[in-house]
Amino acid sequence: MARYTGPTCRLCRRVGDKLMLKGDRCYTSKCAIERRSVPPGYNATAKRRPRKSERGLQLLEKQKARYTYGLLERQFRKFFTEAERLPGVTGENLLILLERRLDNVVYRLGFASSRGQARQIVRHGHILVNGRKTNIPSYLVKPGDVIAWRESSKKSEYYKMVSQTAGDAVIPTWLSLDKQKLTGKVVSLPNPQDIQAKFDIKSIVEYYSR
Ligand code: SF4
Repeated sequence: MARYTGPTCRLCRRVGDKLMLKGDRCYTSKCAIERRSVPPGYNATAKRRPRKSERGLQLLEKQKARYTYGLLERQFRKFFTEAERLPGVTGENLLILLERRLDNVVYRLGFASSRGQARQIVRHGHILVNGRKTNIPSYLVKPGDVIAWRESSKKSEYYKMVSQTAGDAVIPTWLSLDKQKLTGKVVSLPNPQDIQAKFDIKSIVEYYSR
């Protein structure tokens, strides 16, 4: 299955929730959900949406999570299988694994306004992990890892813009940011209770456990 490359807002409309996939635009009145919350394919004048079965609701939560992190079903399923294999609670393990992705960390550090943009930054080789160029968005960070910009990338206009706005981002407690050097550090593993997920992780576990 190919990665979804259509209009990003359509994904939010599909699940009927603001998944914040487009950065700054999500906070404006241009947000497609604010303007029109009917899923694509449904007539805006229809009285109500069809009721979803329990299975349908579980699928919806899974899709919300998958779209939020921008993953293909195959990739998402791989994360779930790994979460099941690890000791502990599967749902919590899944959340932690998703958060540990390098593209998510670049986003959380305020280096990008969306996870999609963060993925591009990583793919284009602008990011170093522990001093080594790492252009794999699915790289899983671990406590102690240092995330920095490549020296040559610091000359870009984009970097200058990020260095001016870096202080605005709310950094999760499991990460720290040196705003002067624009360098992040993974302080600990994320605490599932602190991840304000927009989806119900229990429903996702139920979806895959049938
Ligand atoms: Fe588009 Fe962001 Fe609104 Fe989602 S939350 S519909 S991505 S503007």
